[in-house]
Amino acid sequence: MQKSVKSCSDNRIKQFKYKLLHNIIATNENLHRWKIASSPLCKKCHLTENNEHFFVSCECIQDFSKVINHAFTLCGYATNFQVLKRLLFGYKIYQKQYIDINIILNIISFSIYKSYMASERRLKPYNILKRCIEELSLTIMHSNGNKNKLITKYIEILSQAKHHMP
Ligand SMILES: [Zn+2]
Repeated sequence: MQKSVKSCSDNRIKQFKYKLLHNIIATNENLHRWKIASSPLCKKCHLTENNEHFFVSCECIQDFSKVINHAFTLCGYATNFQVLKRLLFGYKIYQKQYIDINIILNIISFSIYKSYMASERRLKPYNILKRCIEELSLTIMHSNGNKNKLITKYIEILSQAKHHMP
């Protein structure tokens, strides 16, 4: 678990991962538990907005979810990555060759998180895919000449998919 936090270079993402691992993301379920929100339900789907709903099953992220899964498949990873366990704990995090995959997973969950506030808790439309591509590109820029071949390929696939998104 430590390693999955370490593998992100960006402090914003580190702080986010800390919140995610300690279940203190401001989902409506948590806000309701902390007596800050009157309802634990997702404003869009009217189902309990826990981490699983927030990051995996909310209707607002299904199109995005399809695109990222498709991109993983094209990169040779057929596993369904858009599940909470992967977003929380990463993919084979003790094996160095999967570091890029884990960077991508962190950025996917971070993009979902950032888009949540930017869309006013999912009441307004927001382009998560665009955000995710921007965050991945930032990571490449900050990677100090590391090749990050997989991340580069992943960005290319997402960028192509962008044109087919509703
Ligand atoms: Zn929802």
